[in-house]
Amino acid sequence: MPKRVETVVLHDSSTPIFGDIEKGGNVVITTLDTVLNQVRANSLFPLTFGLACCAIEMMSTAGSRFDLSRFGMEAFRASPRQADLMIIAGRLSKKMAPVLRQIYDQMPEPKWVISMGACASSGGVYNNYAIVQGADQVVPVDVYVPGCPPSPDALLYGIMKLQEKIKRGQSPKSFKELRVVETQARQLEEVEA
Ligand code: SF4
Repeated sequence: MPKRVETVVLHDSSTPIFGDIEKGGNVVITTLDTVLNQVRANSLFPLTFGLACCAIEMMSTAGSRFDLSRFGMEAFRASPRQADLMIIAGRLSKKMAPVLRQIYDQMPEPKWVISMGACASSGGVYNNYAIVQGADQVVPVDVYVPGCPPSPDALLYGIMKLQEKIKRGQSPKSFKELRVVETQARQLEEVEA
């Protein structure tokens, strides 16, 4: 009489089975999101996007002295389609704002934004009609790096803070968090009236 088969286990040759543990193989149990967030945080592709003097410091960050490649992100991309990190390096003029927004919209999800320097974050010394008083009026900003200009070390610190956020699984800021300036809101109300 043939023996009755109690259990059938199917696996392909690349799937580790418990027998492998006895042979000295390693097993890690985690969630897929944790793995994805780790990978995302350590392989960000920044966009080549310099607006003013801060961009010189950003370029230095990619140089051999500060070595951005330690963080897996030395490949600055010239196309927004291949980038997931926008570093706004320098003052943002009102003429440039729609272009910045268009480029941001062309980047694939998920995407993050670092505002580098006083000008990008708040208009800096340029409190005038031509400069946007904070890039967060145009695109959602995840990390602000202070300084005029911030040193490459400061930018690296900002990048590390962003990596921490990504590893924690924090979503990028959304358009709901755009800063609407009071005067602009007032102007809009006047126009609508
Ligand atoms: S923060 Fe300073 S260095 Fe950066 S763009 Fe403004 S003026 Fe230039």
